Amino acid sequence: MPSDNKHTHNYDYDYFVIGAGSGGTRSARIAAGHGAKVAIAEGRHFGGTCVNIGCVPKKLFAYASDYGPAFEDARGFGWNVEKPTFNWSQLIENKDNEINRLNDIYKVMLQKAGVEVFQDNASFIDEHTLQVGDKQVTADKILIATGGQPRKPSYEGAEHTIISDAAFYLDKLPKHIVIEGGGYIGVEFAHIFHGLGSKVTIIHRGDQILRGFDQDIRDFLSNEMKKQHVNLMFETNITKIVKNGDKYAVLTNKNDEIDCDLVFSATGRIPNTQNLALNNANIATKDNGAITVNDHYQTSSPHIYAVGDVIKRIELTPVALSEGHALADNLFNGQARSTSYDNIATAVFSNPAIGTVGLAEHEARDKGYEIDIYKSEFTPMRHRLSMRDEQTFMKLIVDQKTDKILGAHMCGVDAPEIMQGIGIAVKVGVTKADFDATIGIHPTAAEEFVTMRQKA
Ligand code: NDP
Repeated sequence: MPSDNKHTHNYDYDYFVIGAGSGGTRSARIAAGHGAKVAIAEGRHFGGTCVNIGCVPKKLFAYASDYGPAFEDARGFGWNVEKPTFNWSQLIENKDNEINRLNDIYKVMLQKAGVEVFQDNASFIDEHTLQVGDKQVTADKILIATGGQPRKPSYEGAEHTIISDAAFYLDKLPKHIVIEGGGYIGVEFAHIFHGLGSKVTIIHRGDQILRGFDQDIRDFLSNEMKKQHVNLMFETNITKIVKNGDKYAVLTNKNDEIDCDLVFSATGRIPNTQNLALNNANIATKDNGAITVNDHYQTSSPHIYAVGDVIKRIELTPVALSEGHALADNLFNGQARSTSYDNIATAVFSNPAIGTVGLAEHEARDKGYEIDIYKSEFTPMRHRLSMRDEQTFMKLIVDQKTDKILGAHMCGVDAPEIMQGIGIAVKVGVTKADFDATIGIHPTAAEEFVTMRQKA
């Protein structure tokens, strides 16, 4: 429905969006749909990190990786499989074709929505004026949706490390890869490379992977990874990397020396604000580099907004989409919508994968809840015949007072798919009694969530 929003004729555009990633693209399209005159600038890839060097190619790689053990599994079901060979270049080529297709879709989608597209970087000249390539444009309202980039390490020899951007374009599959960092990206790429046949070592400064997740889930996944012979080194920091021909020696604070042929640093991401000339528009940032915004995504310049990874609230694509959408509705359709940050379901595409929503046990206790815990660990039916040594783990955290499910956590096959549905239930305040009254779907792993009766 077109809004009664009046075009602001003093400016070239009502809304200028910097960055055509998840948040920016969504916001630009929705704003244009509400009748605003919109332009977007993108200097790199349409679709941003997620589509080009993040979620999408990562998931394609994870699928590729899953075939590794799946060929082995097939023997248990009567398939005589010769040891298959893997062609990395073929995977990269097929992945690139798919990403290029999506890239074009994003651009066309914007154009069809009536958004003017600039294939250039934009930076601030003043609060209403942007330099976009060799043009100067003005806009009534401006959105910064420039995302983030992987942090680069600074120890001696750090120039020999790669970051996730490069991991999607490697010439060849490494025989032994050292991954620095035990967060989302470290754990997901450990799965990818291990399944494709590389030896994998994770070097992590903490005492367990995936800080912030439920402790049982962290311990469970870590144990499953060890069973697969992923080498996990905890409370260890890289101090130096030495190049020896086409190999590297990784030295640590514990005097280890690990020989490998690739070092991949995955130690978090930093907001992309470096080339925006934010000072020219008096836009404040926080200590971690994120743009400061209020509850309405307004920066310190009230007609300039920011959403997504550049504000570093929750660095997830669906969150950026939601923020960008809500903002466009608010600005150009007179709505008062906001993004709810409670109970955001999330997944880690590790092996086995994690799906989680709501509070971890430690968070529930820290918030003062009296809680009941339900846990289940079992061998998935498939692995009865495949003989793969892999378990599935599930956990529910229930508020004793209200019977509400405060948190649901799973590590096992299909956990991300299963958790989306449970995420809806938790969002609307589902109780343990509701779970108990639900008839399971048999035979599935998911039915275990509605049949857990024994308090841990
Ligand atoms: P994370 O913050 O998830 O993990 C960073 C890891 O690096 C942590 O283990 C952290 O340790 C460690 N680390 C941080 N700083 C240093 C340092 N200076 N030296 C050594 N180790 C360090 O970041 P990622 O890079 O893995 O991913 C970035 C974000 O992208 C994620 O947080 C997530 O929001 C998003 N993402 C989401 C995915 C999904 O939804 N499936 C997939 C990939 C990314 P410590 O725990 O001690 O801080």
